[in-house]
Amino acid sequence: MRQQAENANWNARLEISTLWVDVPPSCFEVKAIFPAYPTEDVIREIKDFSLQTGRPYEWRGHTHAPPPKDGKPPIYIDRIEISAVARRRKEFSPCPCCTPNHRKFGEGLIAWFEDEKVIRLIGKDCFAAINRSGHEEAYQDLVRRENERRVLDHILRQIGRMPNWIRAGEELLPIAQAADEFFPQIENRITKSQGVSNFWREIRGGVLHLNETVAKVNVRRDGSEEEVEEGKEAFETIPVAAFPIIGYAAMNPARKALYPSILDAVTALRAVAPTTAGAIRALNPIQRLAVSRDLKRSLDLLKRKREDLRDQVQFLSQLNIQRLSQWAADPKSPVSFSISRKEGKLIVGGRRADYVFDIPEELRISIIPAIDEP
Ligand SMILES: [Zn+2]
Repeated sequence: MRQQAENANWNARLEISTLWVDVPPSCFEVKAIFPAYPTEDVIREIKDFSLQTGRPYEWRGHTHAPPPKDGKPPIYIDRIEISAVARRRKEFSPCPCCTPNHRKFGEGLIAWFEDEKVIRLIGKDCFAAINRSGHEEAYQDLVRRENERRVLDHILRQIGRMPNWIRAGEELLPIAQAADEFFPQIENRITKSQGVSNFWREIRGGVLHLNETVAKVNVRRDGSEEEVEEGKEAFETIPVAAFPIIGYAAMNPARKALYPSILDAVTALRAVAPTTAGAIRALNPIQRLAVSRDLKRSLDLLKRKREDLRDQVQFLSQLNIQRLSQWAADPKSPVSFSISRKEGKLIVGGRRADYVFDIPEELRISIIPAIDEP
């Protein structure tokens, strides 16, 4: 019993000793050298120092003496983290708020105590123990500033790419126009002139089926197959998937024109203002959010319509038309017509005369202009 108690005591002491940090006395000196909000350079210096050394408490401007109980709550300037190596070794940083000589945090905050003119590098939630509401207010303010910063960075990146999006949109316009004119003509010839009224119903799933005749199998309640006398077999016809088909949306009788939407997106992008980094910075957070939303709406529309166009243009690929042709000509096919592609011509035939179409130059491509991803 006594031995056990002694062991526990020893273990507790050992634990304390591994968490103990010899913080140099100079770190505890109050360095009242920050009467104003720290500059970008100082913030950068602190972040780099913490990350490189893993010992934020040794940064030249840090005050390791605890904050006074009744002092003004700090402003949280930014976040810091210790090096990955220090983290792996569990060499966390001691914190002036709560554990000045024991390991405490890997991720912390740069806290500026304006009334004392000092900076303390502290654990993320540590000041809450001294002044909860002061901490919460300061933390919310940090999060708000971080969000604003993210929105600003995002807009600046997007604004830089906007000319590429507008250019891609302009290149897509003639392709969309050609597709809007050409595809409905083809669909019309197949369904109306050749009388293939079930065309869309057959292709809309992206798979072409053939009607295969198979012996009917009756299954008993226990799952076993019923035996059938020779010559008395029953047969049934079931659709069996035969070929995949791509770009079938081009043949949707309710297909929506792509040109107007792409033109809308390009027009909206051209209208986004302001477009210079300086002018964007000068906007207030609400105005920036509005610019960001305008950009996103137009870009999303452009991307969606470009994807539709990319998909539909593939309908005309040699391989796709070949599959369609093979399927339509098969005696087991649920449709009956013919289709073929020869160079720049598409020929639709069947129960009436062949119709020859010149495939527009804009649609004789396999890759359409891409939109540079943000
Ligand atoms: Zn702390």
